[in-house]
Amino acid sequence: MTAQLINGEALANKIREELHKEVQTLKRNGKIPHLVAVQVGKNPASEVYIRSQSKLCEEIDIRYTLEDLPEGLSEKDLIAHIEGLNSNPSITGVILQMPLPKGINAQRVQSSISPLKDVEGMNLASMGQLVYGKARLAPCTAMAVIELIKSSVVETRGMEATIIGRSAIVGKPVALLLLDLNVTPTICHTATRDMTLHTKRADILVAAAGKAGLLRGDMIKPGAVVIDVGINKVPEFDAEGKPVLDKKGKQKMKIVGDVNFQEAKEVASFITPVPGGVGPVTVAMLLRNAVEAAKMV
Ligand code: NAD
Repeated sequence: MTAQLINGEALANKIREELHKEVQTLKRNGKIPHLVAVQVGKNPASEVYIRSQSKLCEEIDIRYTLEDLPEGLSEKDLIAHIEGLNSNPSITGVILQMPLPKGINAQRVQSSISPLKDVEGMNLASMGQLVYGKARLAPCTAMAVIELIKSSVVETRGMEATIIGRSAIVGKPVALLLLDLNVTPTICHTATRDMTLHTKRADILVAAAGKAGLLRGDMIKPGAVVIDVGINKVPEFDAEGKPVLDKKGKQKMKIVGDVNFQEAKEVASFITPVPGGVGPVTVAMLLRNAVEAAKMV
């Protein structure tokens, strides 16, 4: 069998079109979505991310403001700043750019964002609401996984799912969200004794370990839906197994997921590529949260 590719870019485009329409309706009703991104110190990696956030917000007509705070800011002052954003009614969403400078506890700062404005769905209150099946703002990657599953499976009731990875931002919230879809989830992690035992019986497989090629074809039940969350940078080789070099003679790197794609696509019914699967939908979920947050003000 050759699996059908789940096109994350296409799904993300569709979601963004819907959000654009929703934003127009919100604006007609006097609700103006305004997302504020807080960055502490300069970081070249987050610059790219910020530019893309800003462009995507503009596309769906959400106002986006970047606040550049000085590198030496203390955690206390950063939290005080965020509390100011929380109490400003013209700001509907707050996003904290990572990484934060050393010495600042990211989880504490994240949890100082009002649960009503926490567009990344990562503070403690948002996580708690997940347990009750009532999260309006859930972690973006976990929601992206659910959207991708829903785009390929009509009825999830009674299905078995295995998730590889137990992190707070991916593995655990995916399991909780799957429970709401009447799925029976199992989470595998580094201490799991026999991972294949669990992956082999799963109708839905979610790989989120951050280990290139961890999920092999012979670990997959024929016809399973495979969602690859992993992002791993690995050296690139040509068809003859020789390293691919760049202009400076340095070995080129490429991005791959946690799934051995070539093997998995022969066994699965649906599969997400990396890149172009979970990534773009995660960004679309951030925008969806920004729209949801604007409704809650
Ligand atoms: P993490 O390091 O916090 O958690 C990884 C989890 O995988 C851990 O719970 C660990 O127990 C488990 N694990 C690691 N090696 C394992 C192994 N050999 N067998 C079984 N379990 C194993 O990572 P994370 O933040 O959850 O991210 C996971 C991956 O997803 C990373 O590659 C990350 O870059 C990627 N990611 C992608 C997106 C996206 O938008 N596409 C978003 C977030 C994370």
